[in-house]
Amino acid sequence: MSRKNRPYQFYDTTGAVCSTCLRQIEAKVVIEAERVLLDKWCPVHGMERVLLADDPEWYRLGREVFVKRPEMPEKFSTPMEYGCPYDCGLCPDHMQHSCLTVLEVTDHCNLRCPTCYAASGPERTTHRPLATVIAMLDAAVRNEGEADVVQISGGEPTLHPDFFAILDAARARPIRHLMVNSNGLRIAQDKDFVARLAEYKKGFEIYLQFDSLQREPLLDLRGADLRSVHDKAIENLNAAGISTTLVMTVKRGVNDGEIGAVLDFARQQPCVRGVTLQPVQEAGRCDNFDSRQHRLTVSEVRRRVAEQFPVLTLRDIVPVPCNPDTLAMAYALRQGPELVPLTRYLDYQTLVEGGGNTIAFERDPQLRDKVFSLLSTGHSPESQANCLSDLLCCLPQVAAPSHLGYQDVFRVLIVQFMDAHNLDLRALKKSCVHMVQPDGRMIPFESYNLLYRDERAQTLAKLRSELKAFHQLRLGS
Ligand code: SF4
Ligand code: SF4
Ligand SMILES: [Zn+2]
Repeated sequence: MSRKNRPYQFYDTTGAVCSTCLRQIEAKVVIEAERVLLDKWCPVHGMERVLLADDPEWYRLGREVFVKRPEMPEKFSTPMEYGCPYDCGLCPDHMQHSCLTVLEVTDHCNLRCPTCYAASGPERTTHRPLATVIAMLDAAVRNEGEADVVQISGGEPTLHPDFFAILDAARARPIRHLMVNSNGLRIAQDKDFVARLAEYKKGFEIYLQFDSLQREPLLDLRGADLRSVHDKAIENLNAAGISTTLVMTVKRGVNDGEIGAVLDFARQQPCVRGVTLQPVQEAGRCDNFDSRQHRLTVSEVRRRVAEQFPVLTLRDIVPVPCNPDTLAMAYALRQGPELVPLTRYLDYQTLVEGGGNTIAFERDPQLRDKVFSLLSTGHSPESQANCLSDLLCCLPQVAAPSHLGYQDVFRVLIVQFMDAHNLDLRALKKSCVHMVQPDGRMIPFESYNLLYRDERAQTLAKLRSELKAFHQLRLGS
């Protein structure tokens, strides 16, 4: 008797949420015709199918090779009560500490972007009081012992009336690397502000919104032609020597053909240490967004990088071990605008586990000494706040030599924040980007935007009371 086969390979089961009701539901990961898909079923709202990757080999690399033992935070702040993702956080079932802590200091902004996960704008005017921000910094440090990277965010944080007092407070605490997330307007327009910013530049970085070099994509994503703002902001940051990461929100059919051009622009700017590519997600304000049309997965963005920016090959862009489903990275050494890809010289085991002399430096003898020393020499305490190892916080503990500084590195990160459609609870448990709260909770970025931010908390409260009633019913039976 011959039996019919399903048209796909059944890879795994996982948990997800229904994109309509946000109830936790079952899901399957299947591989069909070179696509990795998440098949979800909600008893109320039926089936939903979402693309996870267009490259099964890439997906399996993250699932089967880039598997490391989870690193714990110092502290868990919430109990396990309702189940994931309703217990953030972090609850004891979370599987990764905070590689990056985001601290939102205001909901006010001088732009009103059609794409803004925080739904900020000029009409919102709440600045968190300095005392609250300090309590949040203390919470970040309490959770981590020494925080790897803290990002001051918003809204537009440079508009906070106590902005520099916040930087001072952050500086006074054990935080290895401090970032400020900014749209660049104030940096472009206020030279005195930039001069003051430059006083903080050791172990400090501007995370600069930079989606495009063209008018139309900027209008689509930001509602304004920001080209001259970008030019002026970069000019001022270059002049002041302030480390900068360009952050590109990538939207299919809008600016995904421009990834190579932005990377090429970035490498020519002395202040720019790299580019972070963030596929657009459904969160906050997402005008002009069609979930079926505009989404991109990590594997699709990775391929565009390799196609549009030949300096990097696919082999140079590898999963980030702490959360390989949603993060990919490529590191290069830079000499001016010239880049020497580094990731290809590291075997996967080194990247996942660290230690051991497993660098494949024999492929390029000229690089041997530099790469070897990069990963094997300790650095002095004085250099600690501004050296390569600080930026490799997602990597295993590899120490970097003090003579190779952050200015010698060019980093490409792909950071996909999952939304209600593609949320995989297995991957969410490994989230390492956490939003610190005034009450001390650390909430994964994705679940925060889905269930904990502003009026979303009402949905969470409703789901929790439903779960409570369900649990009581079970206990009673
Ligand atoms: S995402 Fe993490 S912190 Fe939140 S409920 Fe799930 S395991 Fe707990
Ligand atoms: S995305 Fe950034 S710049 Fe745009 S409205 Fe939101 S906070 Fe402001
Ligand atoms: Zn549903």
